[in-house]
Amino acid sequence: MDALVAHYHEIGLKGRNRDFFEETLTRNLKRALRGTGYSRVRRGFGRVVVDFKSHAQVEEAAVRAARVFGVANVGVGRRVAQDLDAMGETALELMAAQPPSSFAVRARRSRSQFEHKSKSINEVVGQRIKDALGATVDLRQPEATAYLELFGTACIVYRTKLQGPGGLPSGVSGKMLTLLSGGIDSPVAAWRMALRGAEVEFVHFHGQPYTDPSSVRQVCDLVEILTRYQLRGVLHLVPLADAQREIVTHAPSDLRVILYRRTMMRIAQALAHERGAQALVTGDSLGQVASQTVENITAVDAAIPGTQVFRPLIGHDKLEIIELATRIGTYETSTRKHQDCCVLFEPRSPVTKTNREAAEGAEANLDIDAMVGKALAGLETRVFELPDLQP
Ligand code: ATP
Ligand code: MG
Repeated sequence: MDALVAHYHEIGLKGRNRDFFEETLTRNLKRALRGTGYSRVRRGFGRVVVDFKSHAQVEEAAVRAARVFGVANVGVGRRVAQDLDAMGETALELMAAQPPSSFAVRARRSRSQFEHKSKSINEVVGQRIKDALGATVDLRQPEATAYLELFGTACIVYRTKLQGPGGLPSGVSGKMLTLLSGGIDSPVAAWRMALRGAEVEFVHFHGQPYTDPSSVRQVCDLVEILTRYQLRGVLHLVPLADAQREIVTHAPSDLRVILYRRTMMRIAQALAHERGAQALVTGDSLGQVASQTVENITAVDAAIPGTQVFRPLIGHDKLEIIELATRIGTYETSTRKHQDCCVLFEPRSPVTKTNREAAEGAEANLDIDAMVGKALAGLETRVFELPDLQP
């Protein structure tokens, strides 16, 4: 029968942590594969095996499984008995489907009682393929590889191996709230934290009704893409325009962007508290724009003392970020034209170096609590789920 075998990196996984990791990974895989026609998802022997009913959508299931955080790679093949003849026949079938000119057989045993050692399995199965297809054995750079994994009393034979994202299963590292603009960086920052096992929620600040709804459409599309990996995404939409108007009226223009940011941080902090998120995440990268100097970042964070802010892209080059955005599939959406709220009343020359005292001084004439409260009163929350595959 058709089967998938999902592998993960075991390094650093010990004791109860490991149990929690495997349990979460198994649950997430089940969720990701809903509707694909699997019959069972089971963990054991350092891997997770998925068995399918007949006529299941195995290929799409494999693609979905290979996006789940924590999965290092996915073998796509069949479950057979630990029997040389059955294993050889299946390996041959997989090879014959698209005959390679060169191939390798790689058997691996873990806690299996099977009488034959890996080496002799390789030889017997290899000979059979060679005889039937006339392909040559090449252990260094084979065009195709037949993998045979024996564990317990089971064997999975596969030829196709998909690369997964690696990392840790979604949810094992607690919850975080990402400040999501419509740009290139913040979706990548969210993805990186999610890769490390954080369950990421999103908050977006929009300028409606002074801007058009394009930034909201944009972040919805971005969260939908990120939901392919995380399986679920909660997006909080917060109107910022009124707060921005207050800032424009009562504070010096060169500090506007810093004050917008400090306001966003305060709102995000309150929201994180309410949602049980333990940290905020942003897409800042050092020196990229005026608001991302060390001085300005420090002045921004000073608005929310005691709250952890992670900036996973701080030391990354724009090119690296673009590369990752392309790989995870957000780049194209991020580069669509959209109206960000920060362009509202944008000053001609924003400060590149400010400090906490200057920011606090500029806020003296503002009723911060009222601004935060008003913005949160306009909060709208949308939940995204990976759609079940339709039979
Ligand atoms: P990005 O590509 O993520 O938009 P950027 O390089 O354009 O980042 P900034 O516009 O300075 O940089 O924004 C820095 C960070 O502040 C963003 O990565 C994001 O985390 C947050 N941010 C900016 N604008 C918004 C917004 N409208 N809503 C939510 N978060 C925002
Ligand atoms: Mg931006």
